[in-house]
Amino acid sequence: RAECGRHRMFLRLFPGLTIVEPGALRPGGGDHYRVFSPYFRAWQGARWRDELAAPKRVRLPDGVDPGRLPDPPKGDSPDAAVGGETVARRRLTAWLPTLDRYGDIHDDVAGDETSRLSPYLRFGCVSPLAVANRAGDRDGPFVRQLCWRDFYHQVVAGFPDLSTVAYRRGAREDWRDDAHAFDAWAEGRTGMPIVDAGMRQLRAEGWMHNRARLITAGYLTKHLGLDWRPGLEVFFRGLLDGDRVNNSGNWQWVAGTGNDTRPYRGFNPVRQAERYDPDGVYVRRWVPELESVAGKAVHQPWRLPDEVRRTLDYPPPLEVPGTDPVWLR
Ligand SMILES: Cc1cc2nc3c(=O)[nH]c(=O)nc-3n(C[C@H](O)[C@H](O)[C@H](O)COP(=O)(O)OP(=O)(O)OC[C@H]3O[C@@H](n4cnc5c(N)ncnc54)[C@H](O)[C@@H]3O)c2cc1C
Repeated sequence: RAECGRHRMFLRLFPGLTIVEPGALRPGGGDHYRVFSPYFRAWQGARWRDELAAPKRVRLPDGVDPGRLPDPPKGDSPDAAVGGETVARRRLTAWLPTLDRYGDIHDDVAGDETSRLSPYLRFGCVSPLAVANRAGDRDGPFVRQLCWRDFYHQVVAGFPDLSTVAYRRGAREDWRDDAHAFDAWAEGRTGMPIVDAGMRQLRAEGWMHNRARLITAGYLTKHLGLDWRPGLEVFFRGLLDGDRVNNSGNWQWVAGTGNDTRPYRGFNPVRQAERYDPDGVYVRRWVPELESVAGKAVHQPWRLPDEVRRTLDYPPPLEVPGTDPVWLR
């Protein structure tokens, strides 16, 4: 905008990145909300702008040569999502009948029934306002997730260093240095099945279920005691929806350096796995070495009888010096 102004070029800007513009809602005495719940209440009561129709025609100013479209970059990008607005809108329409069940199913990692609209929202293929309007219910759990997205955007507007600097003043940052553990985490061979499943889904699909993101990020930071910043980079490079704002906000939340009001909340990956993948379906889908282990026993292969364990080509859980995790006792 500043550059166009400098060249006396007229530019009209329309909001569209979020539902409510960052900075539009401010708490008394601050430039942005630090805590989600009060932001959500203010957001629910805010007036949302009208949706605008797409322009019939986009005309370039005279004398501008846009050149040739660049070739897609070479690499092993997963083929999980076809881009574009038409596909995004179709996906939304096809998914909306699930909306009523969202509150019950959104944490079921194996069921995998969330909207998968995140890459489309991230690249602006579909407007978050259009998605929220079609979903309708401002009090419902799905629209609440879209509010988390707005929340982190207004956090970043007030704290632009969110991807590199701890948001919470005085946050403990005594991370360990352990390249071996970090690589095992990134490659999905930690010996903790639910974590390995999530990281392998990321590598295979360029996507990971939200609950698996919470579990894998929590395992890296709260169990392995490793810095969230390199973890964030692995996600950023691997995710089709990889996004500085949502990725950083969520990583900091999990690591306890961000907007969580309970930064020291406990973390037990086995309990999480048993709750959100009760039959082990998700783990067996992504960790074929454990295919033969039935039911929830798949979440703790180290408890299997020696003679069974020896037949599995799967590592024992990583050890962290000086710790005695409850789930291994
Ligand atoms: C460690 C970690 C890193 C993450 N990194 C990203 C990222 O890089 N990009 C990204 O878009 N999301 C990120 N998320 C948030 C969330 O996991 C994804 O948005 C969600 O899993 C996408 O799947 P969906 O579209 O099916 O979501 P749905 O459950 O269908 O939700 C609808 C939309 O709401 C938004 N949303 C949902 N949950 C969140 C959330 N926790 N924070 C912010 N927005 C949310 C997304 O735009 C999503 O598409 C991260 C979460 C964690 C815990």
